[in-house]
Amino acid sequence: MSTTIIGFPRIGENRELKFQTEKYFRNEITESQILSFSKALRKKHWRILKETQIEAIPSNDFSLYDQTLDTAFLLNIIPAEVANLDLTPLEKYFALARGYQGAKGDVKARPMKKWFNTNYHYLVPKFEKNTQIKVTGSKIFDEYQEACELGIQTRPVLIGPFTLLQLAEYADNTSAKDFVDSLVDGYQDILRKLEALGAQWIQLDEPSLVKDLNTEEKQLFCNIYQRLTENKAINILVQTYFGDVRDVYQELIALNIDGIGLDFVEGRQNLSLVKQGFPADKTLFAGVVNGKNIWRNDYQKTLDIIKQIPAQNIVLNTSCSLLHVPYSVKNEVFAENIKAHFAFALEKLAELTDLAQLVKGENPQVLASNQALFTNERVVRDEKVHQKLAQLTEADFTRPDTFEVREQIQKAKFQLPLLPTTTIGSFPQTKEVKQTRAKYKRNEISKTQYHDYLATRTKEWLKWQEEIGLDILVHGEFERNDMVEYFGQNLNGYLFSKNGWVQSYGTRGVKPPIIWGDISRAQPITVYWSKFAQAQTKKYVKGMLTGPVTILNWSFPREDISLKESTLQLALAIQEEVLDLEANGIEIIQIDEAALREKLPLRQSDWYTQYLDWAIPAFRLVHSKVKPTTQIHTHMCYSEFTDIIPAIEQMDADVISFEASRSNLTILDELQAQHFKTQVGPGVYDIHSPRIPSVEEIEQTIKQILAKVPIEKVWINPDCGLKTRGEKETKASLVHLVQAAKNCRGSESYGQTKSIL
Ligand code: GLN
Ligand code: ZN
Repeated sequence: MSTTIIGFPRIGENRELKFQTEKYFRNEITESQILSFSKALRKKHWRILKETQIEAIPSNDFSLYDQTLDTAFLLNIIPAEVANLDLTPLEKYFALARGYQGAKGDVKARPMKKWFNTNYHYLVPKFEKNTQIKVTGSKIFDEYQEACELGIQTRPVLIGPFTLLQLAEYADNTSAKDFVDSLVDGYQDILRKLEALGAQWIQLDEPSLVKDLNTEEKQLFCNIYQRLTENKAINILVQTYFGDVRDVYQELIALNIDGIGLDFVEGRQNLSLVKQGFPADKTLFAGVVNGKNIWRNDYQKTLDIIKQIPAQNIVLNTSCSLLHVPYSVKNEVFAENIKAHFAFALEKLAELTDLAQLVKGENPQVLASNQALFTNERVVRDEKVHQKLAQLTEADFTRPDTFEVREQIQKAKFQLPLLPTTTIGSFPQTKEVKQTRAKYKRNEISKTQYHDYLATRTKEWLKWQEEIGLDILVHGEFERNDMVEYFGQNLNGYLFSKNGWVQSYGTRGVKPPIIWGDISRAQPITVYWSKFAQAQTKKYVKGMLTGPVTILNWSFPREDISLKESTLQLALAIQEEVLDLEANGIEIIQIDEAALREKLPLRQSDWYTQYLDWAIPAFRLVHSKVKPTTQIHTHMCYSEFTDIIPAIEQMDADVISFEASRSNLTILDELQAQHFKTQVGPGVYDIHSPRIPSVEEIEQTIKQILAKVPIEKVWINPDCGLKTRGEKETKASLVHLVQAAKNCRGSESYGQTKSIL
């Protein structure tokens, strides 16, 4: 029984890769400096793997930005607009990742998409008519040799050809089929080159195999791999993760490949699939240590799974790349009895070694100490929370009045003009705002000073919103560091790591808080600032909350209770906050579900039975008890919900705003076709760019919206919060937004409604 991992976090123990790369972006270090820095980092990581006795060590799992981009770049899948720039290869690489604007041209960054069901984002490869696939890069070979020079034999890792084709975008009326031949040639060339260098294995990552596959896709996969394995130079491991391979298991085991990597953590059906039989001539890379979560492995449970696997050759593996967990627990300051329950990347290496020894019957004492972590209750149950959950009935998930009734009541009450204008919540978190918070945290300014600073900013922006004529105001969220951490800090049951960074994309990371125990509201969270803001103005100020599904999806969840149960606990806590806001005179409350789509199962057949069936009710639980006169808004960050429109409607919000400006408002056709009844604010300009949209441009967008959605349903707002924007462009854009809305209201309709002032 040997051990391996799919990939190691590449950002470094203290995110040093991020800081060095950003220095390179700012021209503070040279190309050769960033390259030699990353070489040293790889060396350090390989040494660690060696020292922790991981037997089969991967290479090329390192990336300066993203592994999908690396694979496309290696194979010359580089859109012409970048290929033609007079830049060095590394500059072209980063031009794809971040765009290039300078003396040699002006190109936009390639779009990014969420990597399966994680919060990591990959760069979408683009195939064009003139794409000439050939091996032009050398990273995979260089890194293999680098490790050889250290005396370490590695297994190079690459995104597999099937997944690469599935994730790509196709221009000029091309499709995946047009590139299969040349792509297979390219991969074969890579295999031969690796063989010549002395490599014995290659790992081809094929996570697309865990999605629902239709006949055509299955054929594409078989076709690629039959051809790829005809004259095989080295051993091929087809590695899957994030789910099970039920649609292609038979095909996979029949292929002329040498290893199959399966995820036994998230892959619900993988165990029963291998029980049907696993070929004696292949090695099973068994993903038994969770690569996505931060809890200790339950050795006994894992040993029970391993025992049931009939394969003759098993390599113990992580369930996915360790890219998705932080580096090490050893840098954290949790009490020892808490720390004992966590395994970040480094600790997971040790777990693999422990498990391999236990399978061989060695080192039995580690089993006993591991079992102790699971036999005693880790957390004290919060009986009150459990009682509340047990008492929930259908009525707790339903607003007593129907949407239609509420809509009438609210129209009469709020007396808003047609096309009411608002924003999504946050205003620019300038350097000054962040520095003031940092000073307060370091005790350099007092609580009162910090409070007064926030109060001044909030008042200023409220006054400004009144001046430019926005209809529904926001307080600006100046007091919040982050839309999840701010809430977590006010909830019982949460823990926060010091250094638990996980790569989100490129040089960006997130530090997800940890759900440790039962959740309840420790104290009012947003009431103070909402009340404060409402007291400054006669206009309505929206209360601003993060919803339970988003809080869960951006945290490390518990494994001892279900995601559903944790989400319902969060929902009860946020419900208390909603009712508290209402009791304190806040009559419009927005509950953000920015990340609702994030944990949507990869298989469509699981959407309503494994996720939406509890995620949507959890959202309703939050707002079901408010009066019909209280208007509930929600906000979603992606407009990619064309396929779950009925579920969005079932959230039963009164108003939803979302990001539509970048997706060319295509969602509107679907909203129209499905007679969407919730009022909508489809984001009239893109806040992810510093560009200031003109009044005419916004008017055009509004007209496009009005062509599809009845005017009484439409709200006018930017497509997301403004915290990452500068003050100048924010103000200019919003002045244009208000003007555009007024122009579109038209003279008659404008006169029909009274302002609430
Ligand atoms: N209310 C939040 C804000 O305006 C929403 C952020 C988000 O959707 N990511 O910043
Ligand atoms: Zn958003």
